[in-house]
Amino acid sequence: MFKKNKHGIQIKSAEQLDKMRAAGLVVGRTLQLLRESVRPGMTPLDLDAIAEKAIRDEGAVPSFKGYQGFPATICASVNEEVVHGIPSDRRPLREGDVISIDCGAILDGWHGDSAITMAVGEVDPKLTELMRVTEEAMWRGIAALTVGRHLSDIGYEVERYVRSQGRYGIPQEYGGHGIGTEMHMDPWVANHGKPGRGPRFEPGMCFAVEPMVNLGTDRTRVLSDDWTVVTIDGKPSAHFEHSVAVTDNGPWVLTALDGGKARLSELLGEKAATDGKTE
Ligand code: MG
Ligand code: MG
Repeated sequence: MFKKNKHGIQIKSAEQLDKMRAAGLVVGRTLQLLRESVRPGMTPLDLDAIAEKAIRDEGAVPSFKGYQGFPATICASVNEEVVHGIPSDRRPLREGDVISIDCGAILDGWHGDSAITMAVGEVDPKLTELMRVTEEAMWRGIAALTVGRHLSDIGYEVERYVRSQGRYGIPQEYGGHGIGTEMHMDPWVANHGKPGRGPRFEPGMCFAVEPMVNLGTDRTRVLSDDWTVVTIDGKPSAHFEHSVAVTDNGPWVLTALDGGKARLSELLGEKAATDGKTE
């Protein structure tokens, strides 16, 4: 029932992709709600409660909760926290913070996984630029997901874009992944490297593309909670992620409300079809 190619990468049927899209939209709508909700004085735990309710109200299940013992619906990583921050109510968000929210949901057995970094109130222009560079690097990586290109082209495009924008750090030990009937499936997807390596993309493959970009060094460490990844130099970090399907008509961004159409039509022109299944 679940087909894999010779490299062990899960290949979804058109019907299965529609289910992935439904799960992806739950995540996309949840993140949109969080984007509209965040403000100084809220805590990451407040955002976690909003996310859990939004996901469950759609009949879906938060996939992070209980994943390897993770206690919450979202990962909430503030400022120098890169990824995997545990939402708490210890420190309310302050004007000038940036917060990365990573969110996953399961609907009808299929997974969606997406992340955004948001400004809390007014932030330093350097942080606005960091978020822009990270999000655009994600889109450049997504645009590589066309039939016939290679797995390593994602990381190549991500890194090439980030390097063209200034001296940023790209943590090498974290990256994207295949996604489908599990959140984390083969293969792992680097955010750096050479082009033209690894399996070629085929219709029905799905990947989470998720660059992390640091304002300073690429070096990170994990806090004593065994989850939270922080930059070694304490400088801020950003993280954006979408779950994306490879189709004959181009990349279909399952966790984007418009299927990726707006941004990809600028990057890819004619090749940026999204099957018309947009919101
Ligand atoms: Mg994620
Ligand atoms: Mg992911």
